[in-house]
This record gives sequence, structure tokens and C-alpha cells, in this order.
Amino acid sequence: MTSIEKIAAKTLEVLKERNVQPTPNEYNKEFCNLAKEQNEKIEECNLFKNLVSKLTPQERDELNANDIQTFEELIALLLKRVHINNVSTLASIIKQALSPSINIHLDEQLTNFSIKIGDSPELIFEEDIQKEMQKLLEKRFTTDQTLLKEKTADIAKLVTLMGKHLKEAINSNQNSSINVTSIKDELTSIDLEDSNISELVTLQNKLINAASSIETEMNEVNKKLSSGENHVKDLENKVQNLESQLKKAKEEAIIDHLTGLLTRRAYDTEIKTIDKNFERENIQYAIVFFDLDHFKDINDTYGHEGGDTVLKTFSKILKSQTRENDILARYGGEEFVATVEYKLRREVLQYLKRIKNIVNENSFNYKNNKIKVTFSAGVVLRNDHKTYHDAIQKADILLYQAKNDGRNKIILEDGLVI
Ligand code: GH3
Ligand code: MG
Ligand code: MG
Repeated sequence: MTSIEKIAAKTLEVLKERNVQPTPNEYNKEFCNLAKEQNEKIEECNLFKNLVSKLTPQERDELNANDIQTFEELIALLLKRVHINNVSTLASIIKQALSPSINIHLDEQLTNFSIKIGDSPELIFEEDIQKEMQKLLEKRFTTDQTLLKEKTADIAKLVTLMGKHLKEAINSNQNSSINVTSIKDELTSIDLEDSNISELVTLQNKLINAASSIETEMNEVNKKLSSGENHVKDLENKVQNLESQLKKAKEEAIIDHLTGLLTRRAYDTEIKTIDKNFERENIQYAIVFFDLDHFKDINDTYGHEGGDTVLKTFSKILKSQTRENDILARYGGEEFVATVEYKLRREVLQYLKRIKNIVNENSFNYKNNKIKVTFSAGVVLRNDHKTYHDAIQKADILLYQAKNDGRNKIILEDGLVI
């Protein structure tokens, strides 16, 4: 009987004693135990041991902890190992995990690592590789954090800038400020300190939305402003029109539109100054009342337009002979009044003669007509009267007298007739 046959017989005996069925597993276990006791080297018994030595330390720990002694039990343990296909997936997930999520730039170290585990995914179980992975992960965190800080700072700057612009916009237009204020409040309420990546994206979107809201709002404001501007322009035009109308009305009250001479109203104002100067400073002046003779006939013959032309021409003659300091006004229809400042009475006479000569020696042109015109006048020297009122009344009387005496006459108070 060989030693193996003896061990086999002994195995069956022991199993019987222990009341254990000689199943292949039980038999095998007991057989190898006995062979070991007998120092018998049985190749098949070392097969299990050899396999165990190839296990990972963790697997060996698990093996001991669970008292695994058979191939079946070992298979259950080995089934927990990751399949090669799954390892590839795991490796690619690790690659992704190591790549910085914000800073997309891959540095050389990371690229090399990716190539390495891409070629041999199972390397991820190696201790050295795992250490390298750890380092890359730390690096990834640092670069992500740095970039996040930079981006946060950029956005903070943007928020400040937008806030500033909004403030300006609010200040420049109170009416449209309500909506803009709410946008501003929303922006400022975003807590950038605690931002993580996804919040940053939300924040960016909010800022973009806010920016377009502001843009719309600003457009509205601009529209309102430009329509307001048009309204203001309309008002400005109206004011300008009113101003020029007022100016015209004022001028019309002072300047007679037909002849360009002062109106009677303006004369009444101006004469006060002249009379004050007479009373205070003894500045002498004469008052002359002119009235065109038979003017009604001129109108009847040449029409109202012809009459107007005569009035204009007569006014030009008076103006050409009257000095700046003297008053010359259209007193009524075809009546005119002039003051003549003088030192010597002669000066007044010369003035009157000049006018009479010009009128008498010339014809007034109207279209192809040469119209002969005469006038009558009454003249007083202010110094001959107590009051201005007395003086002007007398001038009127003298004019009336000139008419009665046959017209084309200038009568002075002292009886002189020119
Ligand atoms: P007398 O010699 O007595 O002064 O006679 P007269 O015709 O000049 O005087 P009267 O007072 O009878 O008539 C004056 C006329 O002057 C009447 C009026 O129609 C006319 N007249 C008044 N103002 C104007 C005017 O602005 N333009 C024209 N064309 N005629 C006027
Ligand atoms: Mg008259
Ligand atoms: Mg007249």
C-alpha cells in the first residue's frame, strides 16, 4: 500500500469517526490535512495555497477572516473582483474626476497619467498609481479653487460696475427707477462668498438676464426721454412763437406798422421825458402838429394803397429832417406830431421851412402817378405855456386855423405863417 493509499484510507476513517460524509470537499480537506501531518508533499494540496499567495492582501485578509479553505469558497471571493471591462470604465471615470472642471487646461502630468491608465486600466489598483492619483486630485482642487476665486472676483467687479451704471441711470431718470431698483437689489443680494460652480453659472445667467432687463429699461427710458425732448421742443417753439408775437405786439404798440414812426402811445411816453428835461434843465422845444391836406381826396383818387404810399413817403421826409433826440410820431390817420429841441427860435423855423419846401417842390410817386401833396401845421413853443397840456392844445388850434386859412400853411403862435 502506497503512502497516498494509506492517507486515503486514514482520511475515510477519520471522516467516519467525526461522522462527516466523505463528500469530495470534505474528503479533500481532510486528505490534505493528513498529508501535511505526514509530511507527504501532495501537489494538488499546494494548488489552493499557491492560488491564495496570488491574492491581494485585502483578499487574503478576507480569506482568513472567513476561514476560506476550498476552491468553491475562493471562487465566491474572486467573483467580487472587478471585470476588465469595468476597470476600463472606472479608469475613464477617474480620468474625468482628475480633470479640472473649471480650468479645462490639462497639464502635462495629467495628460501622461491619462494615457497611462488609458493603456492599462488595471493599473489603478497599483499603490504607486493610486498615490499619483491622490496628488493629481489635490492639484485639481487647487486649480479649480484658484479659478473659482478669480471668476468670483470678476463677477463681483461686474456687479459693482452694473450697480454704478444703475445708480447713474436711476439718478438721471426718477420715473423709470422702480424696475431698475429691483434688478439692482437682486444683484446685490447674491452672496458671492459662498458660491460654488453651479451657483456661478446661475449667477452668470442672472447677470445676463439683469443686463438685458436693464437694456430694455434703458431703451424705454431713452424713448421716454426722446419723446419728452420732442415735447420740450414743441413747447420751446410755442414759447418762441409767443415771444416773437409778444415782441411784435410790443413793437406795434410803440412803432406804427405803416410808417415806422412812433405811435401816439409811444409819443405820450416819450414826451414826458422831453418835458421833464424842459422843466428841470430848461431844454427848449417846440411842438409841431402836421396834417395832410385833403387826404381823403388822395384816397378817393388813388385808392387806399395810394394813400398809404403817400403816408409812408411823407413820414420818410419828416424822418429825414428830424433829429435823433427829437420825437416824431404818427398821431392819428394822416396827422403827425414832432418835437424840435432848439436854442434859437430860428432853428425851428428852418426845420419847418425845409419840410415845407421838400413837400411842395416834389411830387409823391405812386405807381405811374405823380401826386401833389400839401400839409398844414400848427406850431407852439413849449416855453410860451404853463403846462405841456396847454401847449399841445394850442398847437391843435393853430393847425385848425391853418386849415381854415386855406391849407398848405404852417402857423406859429406869434402869428408867423410859413
Ligand atoms: P383836411 O384837409 O381837412 O385834413 O381833409 P382830409 O381829407 O385830409 O381830412 P379828413 O379828416 O376828412 O380825412 C382823413 C382821411 O384819412 C380819412 C381816412 O380814411 C384817411 N385815413 C386815415 N388813416 C389812413 C390810413 O392809414 N391810410 C389811408 N390810406 N387813409 C387813411
Ligand atoms: Mg386830419
Ligand atoms: Mg387832413
